[in-house]
Amino acid sequence: MNTISNVCLKNKRVLIRVDFNVPLDENLVITDDSRMVSVLPTIKKVVSDGGMAIIMSHLGRPKNGFEEKLSLKHTTNHLSFLLNRPVSFGGDCIGERAVNDVVNMSSGDILVLENLRFYREEQNGDEEFAKKLARLGDAYVNDAFGTAHRAHASTAVIAKFFPKNKYFGLLMSKELGFLQKTLNNKKKPFTAIIGGAKIAGKIDVIKSLFDKVDNLIIGGGMAYTFAKAMGGKVGNSLVENEKVVLAKQLIKEAKKKGVNLLLPTDSVNADSFSNDANTTISSILSIEKTYMGLDLGGESIAVFSETIKKSKVIIWNGPMGVFEMSNFENGTKKIGEAICLATESGAFSLVGGGDSVAAINKFGFGKRVSYVSTGGGAMLDYLEGKKLPGVLAILD
Ligand code: AMP
Repeated sequence: MNTISNVCLKNKRVLIRVDFNVPLDENLVITDDSRMVSVLPTIKKVVSDGGMAIIMSHLGRPKNGFEEKLSLKHTTNHLSFLLNRPVSFGGDCIGERAVNDVVNMSSGDILVLENLRFYREEQNGDEEFAKKLARLGDAYVNDAFGTAHRAHASTAVIAKFFPKNKYFGLLMSKELGFLQKTLNNKKKPFTAIIGGAKIAGKIDVIKSLFDKVDNLIIGGGMAYTFAKAMGGKVGNSLVENEKVVLAKQLIKEAKKKGVNLLLPTDSVNADSFSNDANTTISSILSIEKTYMGLDLGGESIAVFSETIKKSKVIIWNGPMGVFEMSNFENGTKKIGEAICLATESGAFSLVGGGDSVAAINKFGFGKRVSYVSTGGGAMLDYLEGKKLPGVLAILD
């Protein structure tokens, strides 16, 4: 693999695409720095080689140009703290100002460029914009696994301007290594656990997992569309009506392919989307009209946990309920606990996706699973067998 560990970047201006899309509170203080921490080895490698690290990232979803609260300057002090060395901030990511900033750098310097998404061209994959970014460096490193499934200017298009000097960062190569290890793992049973709010973004991965897994566990909001497909009454639960037919097809397809599709049988319901709501527990197929299902019931947790504990390879993407509210966190917590126990008994477990990672952190399971991926969409696309533009661009 074309990784920076194989090269010396002494005196090179190295453009490093990272994912500093970190959550900030109302005082613009970073509330979870894991994405920053995960790319420190790459930045340290460039600096210890005697290179100059030019950090590029997006932050949030700016609507139309500069937005003070989405400026990457809010990450600079924290990066300096994490690296224990000075970090400067460039006021822009292209143009004269950015060129001046990089020209004035010396060996070992670190510069953070302004939010790439202040320019619409970034997400449009604009070639001219990519060229302007490319002018700032002698080498390009992609260490943003979280955006590797996007063909944006800084994640994919830019690589063509560095035919001989483009590399995977250390995080990116670690992520790809673990994903390959998961898919190549021949141990059985292989169990996938898919949750989260909606089926829509996860249909393709569910279909492709049918060819790989022995057990497919479905939880979270999407389970209620399956319950409706089975003729259930799901009250006010989150249902994607246009996906009911598809859910029926998926149930049939699982049977045809010999996959053990596990859907929740019971549900914790609430009379409003609130932690203070009145709650009931019922069969997932008979939820009262004015109630909505927000978590797995005890029977589902027990059945899912049994299957997980017997598994040898496990992947998990998406929470099992509204884990952000303490009264509806139990399903996610117990399923996480079962994955930890399976891992401690020798299983290989991979967890990914923003919300599953937030849940893992909330319940302190991070060190008890085999690997926590920094990518949600990128991880699903990879597992589906899709080629990630950010990966292809380095391999080409
Ligand atoms: P996703 O981005 O599709 O992975 O969805 C993650 C979100 O799904 C989390 O914020 C959860 O609170 C939410 N979620 C999980 N279960 C449910 C449910 N039963 N009803 C509504 N939202 C849910």
